[in-house]
Amino acid sequence: MSRRYDIAVVGAGIVGLACALAAARRGLSVVVIDRDAQANGASIRNFGFVTVTGQPCGRVWARAHRSRAVWDEIAAEAGIDVLQRGLWLPVRRPEAAAVLEAFMATEMGEGCRMMTPDEAWGRAPEATGPGTVAALWSPHDLRVDSRMAIPRLAAWLADRFGVDFRRETAVHAIELPRIVTSRGVVEAERAVVCPGDDLVSLFPDRLAGFGIVRCKLQMMRLASPGFDLPAPVMSDLGLVRYGGYADLPETAALRARLEAEQGEALAHGVHLIAVQDADGALVVGDSHHDAATPDPFASEAVDRLILDEWTAATGQPAPPVLQRWTGTYARGPHAGVIEAPQPGVRLALITAGNGASTGFAFGEEVLADLFEEISEP
Ligand SMILES: Cc1cc2nc3c(=O)[nH]c(=O)nc-3n(C[C@H](O)[C@H](O)[C@H](O)COP(=O)(O)OP(=O)(O)OC[C@H]3O[C@@H](n4cnc5c(N)ncnc54)[C@H](O)[C@@H]3O)c2cc1C
Repeated sequence: MSRRYDIAVVGAGIVGLACALAAARRGLSVVVIDRDAQANGASIRNFGFVTVTGQPCGRVWARAHRSRAVWDEIAAEAGIDVLQRGLWLPVRRPEAAAVLEAFMATEMGEGCRMMTPDEAWGRAPEATGPGTVAALWSPHDLRVDSRMAIPRLAAWLADRFGVDFRRETAVHAIELPRIVTSRGVVEAERAVVCPGDDLVSLFPDRLAGFGIVRCKLQMMRLASPGFDLPAPVMSDLGLVRYGGYADLPETAALRARLEAEQGEALAHGVHLIAVQDADGALVVGDSHHDAATPDPFASEAVDRLILDEWTAATGQPAPPVLQRWTGTYARGPHAGVIEAPQPGVRLALITAGNGASTGFAFGEEVLADLFEEISEP
């Protein structure tokens, strides 16, 4: 007789793996089912930037703190290298400095430091552009290389907790305890569906009302610049995208100035994140374009806007481009969706483009919801 699992997780991206971890830590038997042979979705196309600083104050910020702690708990045991820590955010407009000052006055600024230009050049001369008027240093963030981290996380779940993985297997329907797949039926008492930006295969009617779209991002890997970044780097443009800054009233003046000076970048949803691989190469991005089905083509003009922002923020020329790719994620007005399309089934999507940063806490919430420990959806 085939085995009946306590829980089946559909999707082996970070959200599915986080749910699998939360389930396994409860002592449940878990099977993870994914249609791809190996991770291929947003979770390996991202920066691997576990961003705490700048997440919107409140629930998402708390999720980011918790998720960062889980990355720290498991990294060594799972063989995942934490390649960078912290955040370096030099800004070149007084309006952006005013946003950082306001941010520092909130609880989100705890542990962070704001620096004068001289302090910033002293601290990180190679990642501080000549036009810098202030810089924020935060110790709260970390960075992993998702190309390695996601497969290692899956392998560790299998080794450490006996989680089973069914790859190259599409899930077509869930009629508990039957999970109907392209390779036959898998049996489980409960199921969590973590489909990433596949909004049509499972329970599309339940997702239809959430205003979720698919968002395409452009990314590049650049040759090593020949120096170490002090931490992942962001810039003025990030202050109008990340809720922890963007929700502050002081951001209005910055947004007005950016619209006048960098309107094209704003129109393409361009902002700067630059992180560094173990071999010194940089991962630099990104842009944001929404569509029902995003096209797969990366625009050179958009890549140029991203590279220009790198140069403006750091004062450094852009090293040669080694790779270009696009990624897509499910984007909606809420930070995430936890829905119960059937008893014993949860549909779980992070819709704020921050699954690496908030996924582990979100997975714990999904499991708590499934086992009815929390009343709030
Ligand atoms: C370019 C880019 C950069 C980003 N940078 C960051 C960052 O630095 N930090 C951060 O916090 N977030 C970042 N994000 C967002 C983050 O990557 C996502 O929020 C997160 O990866 C979503 O994880 P997921 O598991 O929901 O989706 P995915 O990783 O896309 O995984 C979904 C999985 O479900 C499987 N699946 C779907 N339907 C079925 C089915 N019916 N049957 C079987 N399998 C199915 C798919 O095959 C896929 O493997 C970025 C996103 C992108 C695209």
